Amino acid sequence: MLQIANLTHRYPGAPTPQLHVPAFTLAQGEHAIVIGPSGSGKSTLLHLIAAILTPQSGDITVADTSIATLTPRAADLWRGRHIGFLPQKLALIPSLNARDNILLSAYASGQANDSSRADALLSALGLGDKATARPHQLSQGQKQRVALARAMFNRPQLLLADEPTANLDDSSCDAAIALLLAQANEIGASLVLSTHDARVLQALPQGKVLRLQAPVAGASI
Ligand code: ADP
Repeated sequence: MLQIANLTHRYPGAPTPQLHVPAFTLAQGEHAIVIGPSGSGKSTLLHLIAAILTPQSGDITVADTSIATLTPRAADLWRGRHIGFLPQKLALIPSLNARDNILLSAYASGQANDSSRADALLSALGLGDKATARPHQLSQGQKQRVALARAMFNRPQLLLADEPTANLDDSSCDAAIALLLAQANEIGASLVLSTHDARVLQALPQGKVLRLQAPVAGASI
């Protein structure tokens, strides 16, 4: 469901590419861990796979769509239909409650305004009583689960999670990975998560590993 070939990305003005991935593939329902130190390009790679960034060269194919062929507008629609993105900075809107944070994101990507689905997801993630709570009334872990519900809303084929275990203790780290895995498996999605955290390798032993190196000498599988 995911194929990467000869991928290179260089931010404007940077002297050398920040990311180089020669080859990587993932089958539908398979899971992957992108691991590497801070600055090795993990977040950049996830943004490229989500068609938020455009690669300088190379190709990314997700579910038979070659991302480079999409116009910006088409990329937005495609992302809304196929990708769930759990960003490192959760980007919940402070003035909206948990349910409306989920629904606004769905609306922005052209999805139906299905509040019963939002509530069902919140319940499945143990937040059934928090639908009308605003972000400042939630713990960090609860906010992350609201952001996960938002990412899962559209039953994506590919769930991308950027450093989901940053700042979590060991038991919370295991619980966060188990939750992501359970949600992805329930809808048959592939999960790709980025981390600098070696604990994740133990928590997700069946994951395929893509190792990035700092600064960006290359990447190997
Ligand atoms: P990681 O997620 O592994 O910490 P990033 O993908 O965030 O790494 O960053 C990879 C490299 O790209 C770093 O050197 C970072 O400083 C640089 N970088 C990240 N975002 C931008 C940007 N918007 N503009 C220019 N350089 C960036």
